[in-house]
Formats: sequence, C-alpha cells, structure tokens
Amino acid sequence: MDLERALGLIAEVPDFPEPGVLFRDLSPLFADADGFAAVIDALAATVDPGTDVLAAVEARGFLLAAAVGYARAMGVVLVRKPGKLPSVAGRVDYALEYGTASLELPSGVVRPGQRAVVVDDVLATGGTVAAACELLEKAGATVTGVSVVMELAALDGRSALAGRKVSSLLVT
Ligand code: AMP
Repeated sequence: MDLERALGLIAEVPDFPEPGVLFRDLSPLFADADGFAAVIDALAATVDPGTDVLAAVEARGFLLAAAVGYARAMGVVLVRKPGKLPSVAGRVDYALEYGTASLELPSGVVRPGQRAVVVDDVLATGGTVAAACELLEKAGATVTGVSVVMELAALDGRSALAGRKVSSLLVT
C-alpha cells in the first residue's frame, strides 16, 4: 500500500478526549497489515544511520518504535508514564494544555553518549516529545531526531523542539 493511502486510514474523532479536540486515532491504521507496514517502512527511513537507540513514548510510540527497531535492528528505550517502572533514572514534569504530566526513564538502560531518536504517533504542542528529549539528555544521551507519524501544524510543536530534526510522515 502506498503511504498516502496508509495515512488515510487514520480516523478523526471530534471532541475526544474533551470538547474541541479533534483526536487522531491510529487504531484503524495499526489494524491494517499493509497500512501498518507502509507506515513502519516510512518511519524507519526517517531514522538516520548512526542512531544507536529508539526512545518510545508511551503508549502508541511503543508500538511504532518496536516495529521500527526490529526493521532497523535497533533497541528501544521505553519512556513511561509515572508509576510503571521499578527503577527510575529520571523524571520530567511538563505542562499540558490543561494540567501537568510526567514521564520517566528506566535506570541503567540509556548509556551516556548514545544517539537516540524519539518516536511517537502524534506531535501536537510538542510538550511530550520535548520532555522525552530532556529525560534522555539528562541521562547523557544525544537526541539526534524526532520521528512521528503525524504533526498537527496549528499547535506548533516544532517551536518546543527548536533546533531538533523533526520528521513527520504527515503534516496537517
Ligand atoms: P503534545 O505533548 O501536545 O505534543 O501531545 C502529544 C501526545 O498527546 C502524543 O503522545 C499524542 O499521542 C497525544 N495527542 C495530542 N493531541 C492529539 C490528537 N489531537 N490526536 C491524537 N493524539 C494526540
């Protein structure tokens, strides 16, 4: 399947999880073997040679990074919501549009000097991916890129990631 058709499988759900938000649901894309393969191939192509590890943002980033990691023979570091990891290397709290959120990195997984690419499904305000980058850098890694399936341009996530290489399969 070509990439454009694959990306067309992403559903738009108005007013979820709250009124005024147009939620991009990748579930139909994940469920389609050809569509999923097309997106994984395209995402894998955004990861520069020389990258040591993929950092996956919970939860849909896990699924994407796992497949890209297998395709590119790279390991995956899980960037998790709080309370899931038995041993934590670091934690970053960040602002959401309403309220705050936190992400944690497992201890003993990232090695100083490693070059990491952050993988997630949707780049919205960029707060989540910026927090993941900060966590990795605190652990001594260098973030060499950010790869997402979809970027919501109106929310200007790139400004939260100024100076970073951001690769999006679809900008909308
Ligand atoms: P942000 O921190 O604002 O860039 O939000 C990014 C995170 O929230 C990602 O992990 C996305 O999965 C999720 N997200 C934010 N906005 C949307 C949306 N409109 N549709 C689907 N997921 C979203």
